Amino acid sequence: MPATEPWYCRVCGGFHEELPMAFGAEAPDAYYEIPPDERGARAKLGPDRCILDGARWFVKLSLEVPVPEDGRPFVWGLWAEVEQSAFERAHDPAHTAGHESAPPEFGALATRVPGYEETRGLKVRLYPRPFRQFPLARLEPAAHALVEDQLRGIPLARVREYAALLLHPGA
Ligand SMILES: [Zn+2]
Repeated sequence: MPATEPWYCRVCGGFHEELPMAFGAEAPDAYYEIPPDERGARAKLGPDRCILDGARWFVKLSLEVPVPEDGRPFVWGLWAEVEQSAFERAHDPAHTAGHESAPPEFGALATRVPGYEETRGLKVRLYPRPFRQFPLARLEPAAHALVEDQLRGIPLARVREYAALLLHPGA
């Protein structure tokens, strides 16, 4: 089924042509827990990395969930907390050449994914990808709906549910 087919949106009651296949968080949840006036002093935030209080290390990742009806995956841009050594390997330019063949790093999800029970703390493997691409995340086995969804995929109807919320933030 083509993703460009107009779809009914239960939030606004109209039809949309657009179907976003990705959602990204700009910072790990722990960043937002720091009062805004303290973030400048306590947080270093970039598009793919975040350090809090010089002691907590986060990397951005792509978590793909298959959408069999569409063929393309839905991509969550999330954050994982990792050890300092893994953080440094992930962002070492000297390490970039041949990066894709490097072994995975391990981390714990640091973003609450909407529509699921608590997702923070789920264990992930992070597979390096070529320069400037977020590592690809594979959730470790756990009794959790997001783990199941990554294994089995989700129906297009679920993507439309996400899209309704993303197109109408705060609805
Ligand atoms: Zn709508």
